[in-house]
Amino acid sequence: MGNGSAAGQTRRLQPAPFRLRAWALWRQRRSLIAYCFFVESVAAAATVATSIASPPARRHLLFLGLLVALGVVQAELGRKVERMRRRVHGPPYINMTSVWTFAGVLLLPPALVAVLVAVLYAHLATRSWYRLRQVPPFRTILNATLVVLTCYSAASVLAATGVGDMSAALTSGWHGITAVALAAVTYFAVAAFTIIPALTITTRSVKALFGSVGDNLLEVATLCLGMLTALTLATLPALAVAIVPPLLVLHRAVLVKQLEIAATTDEKTGVFNTTGWHLLASRELARAQRTTRSTFGVLMIDLDHFKLINDEHGHLAGDQVLRAVAATIKSAVRDYDSVGRFGGEEFVVLLPDIGPAAVLAVAERIRSAIEVLKVEYADDNHARVIGSLSASIGVATYPDGGTAVDRLLQAADRALYRAKDAGRNQVADGTATA
Ligand code: GH3
Ligand code: MG
Ligand code: MG
Repeated sequence: MGNGSAAGQTRRLQPAPFRLRAWALWRQRRSLIAYCFFVESVAAAATVATSIASPPARRHLLFLGLLVALGVVQAELGRKVERMRRRVHGPPYINMTSVWTFAGVLLLPPALVAVLVAVLYAHLATRSWYRLRQVPPFRTILNATLVVLTCYSAASVLAATGVGDMSAALTSGWHGITAVALAAVTYFAVAAFTIIPALTITTRSVKALFGSVGDNLLEVATLCLGMLTALTLATLPALAVAIVPPLLVLHRAVLVKQLEIAATTDEKTGVFNTTGWHLLASRELARAQRTTRSTFGVLMIDLDHFKLINDEHGHLAGDQVLRAVAATIKSAVRDYDSVGRFGGEEFVVLLPDIGPAAVLAVAERIRSAIEVLKVEYADDNHARVIGSLSASIGVATYPDGGTAVDRLLQAADRALYRAKDAGRNQVADGTATA
């Protein structure tokens, strides 16, 4: 019956996002679906409540029009950069749009800020993010809703100070300055906070999600530009176009930062790639050479009979194992140790400020963690588990094992082969024989 031509036609006529049953949202875990509905209902209720409490005046509509125009112009001029930025990985919450949305907080009644967010996100989704890495619409809507709630929090702080908006701040001296600064701090904090539940959506670590100091500085920079935009619009509106060029430069700076990370990261496992690891190792070597009696360790880890895993479970399951092993190694070492993947199923670890005995202990800890690792993967909707993994590890310590990075790696590699020859699933020390 479903194959009748009339039914076929109606199906074709319906645009894809409106096929309610086909939404990617329904395929998410229940807690995430509930979270989406909760966040969206809170935002909708708050929007209705504030639009009744503080209805917009004519000048607000003018500000809204100007902010939408500036946001669209910036997004159009930065479209290529944004598409490239979305193709490479990076902290997900850094967003140039906060310039306009934070300016909106300082100029508009809350309900109009929601309109501003909706228009700018709809424009970005249809013009810049379309068909990239297949981000389902519910994610974009959730992100936009979280931005609305972030704006409302900042707006309520502004209201609580009794200042209300930028025009009022202009005539309130230090009180006005403090109020605007508090709103900015609130915006920054809430934006970082609302990202936490996203941890259940992706597998990114908290650290990757919150970004480095440099990334946060970029977020601070967008809020500063938002403040300047609001100030300009409240005083000399025509000069607000001057915000666009520095914003485009900032946007490029974000892209450069992301490319830098991508160039030193192994895409499959998220640890350093050969280039990134070598850069860090050379830096560590130079540091150790400057300070006498400084030591550091290098581990070379190769999974045992990995080819059999691929043969038995397939390459995709093999990749899953590689990711799980990378995560296991990372959690077995300290925060400032660097894990890298040298292609295939070979990992390296750099352990700064650590002596020969401790290096062996870390290697042993990694070996036993891999031994008990269970990797889950889905095969034709059946959950399967890969166990009985093992790895052989070669160890070398600076300076006894070698005084150059390549020498240390050679020593660790020789030790690794001895571990393989001696029956695998063991640690061998290359320092003594170097
Ligand atoms: P052993 O090291 O114990 O001697 O045996 P092995 O089977 O692990 O041997 P070897 O290190 O020579 O084989 C590496 C295998 O790793 C060969 C290749 O199929 C697989 N491999 C390399 N890169 C990848 C990858 O990115 N993904 C997957 N799934 N497999 C990979
Ligand atoms: Mg191997
Ligand atoms: Mg190998």
